[in-house]
Amino acid sequence: MSLVLVQLLEELQAGRLRVVDLTQPLSAQTPLLPLPSQWNNSPAFRIWELSRYDERGPAWYWNGFETGEHTGTHFDAPVHWISGKDLPDNTVDRIPPEKFVGPACVIDISEAVAKDPNYLLTPDRVREWEQQYGTIPAGAWVLLRTDWSKRKDPKEYINAKEDGAHTPGFTKETSAFLAKDRDVLGVGVETVGTDAGQAAKFDPPFPNHYLMHGSGKFGLASLCNLDQLPATGAIVIAAPLKIVNGSGSPLRVIAIAP
Ligand code: MN
Repeated sequence: MSLVLVQLLEELQAGRLRVVDLTQPLSAQTPLLPLPSQWNNSPAFRIWELSRYDERGPAWYWNGFETGEHTGTHFDAPVHWISGKDLPDNTVDRIPPEKFVGPACVIDISEAVAKDPNYLLTPDRVREWEQQYGTIPAGAWVLLRTDWSKRKDPKEYINAKEDGAHTPGFTKETSAFLAKDRDVLGVGVETVGTDAGQAAKFDPPFPNHYLMHGSGKFGLASLCNLDQLPATGAIVIAAPLKIVNGSGSPLRVIAIAP
């Protein structure tokens, strides 16, 4: 075995490296992205028992389930957005698996979000982070720590008002900067989607989706435990289900952190 893999196992077994679960539980209670009612909304996760050591299957327990591709902690592929519809390798089954592993850059805006739930990450704030921690490397996941996942009540998590949801996100300039100037793998967020709650009204609508996926980049939504990661130095493993022509999928996201 290669020395680096031996060392990886040794460090994990000794507890000097930790595996951090960045995934929310997936159930019928998992909150969904509320789209305006003129559009199709994502179905909730649904699960049903096939047998449980009973007459339906005497020695085994198993379930069937159905879900939207974008329900719970999930991966957004470039084909998810119209801007990425003609790119090569844009569906979950065709993305090269090398792209399912990458370094994490965690930008903590939790204080600003506590004061303003509609706070948007700006390029200036990213450059400020880079002055402290170094330039975001190509192929990194940029994870937006907002502490939003600590909102356990689904109503507070979605935070919908009469004029739509109020949750944090990115300015379009930030999404363009990260996708084009930093060539990131994508962005990950603690909220239900990678755009801010009010982003249907932005120009273009949902600019993070438009710019990231139009540049062949990915998204991770409904992450948690970002407060357990260092600003740099962790590795994210995020491999979506191999759904043929899929636009995304629920997945287990883990990080290996010092
Ligand atoms: Mn999505």
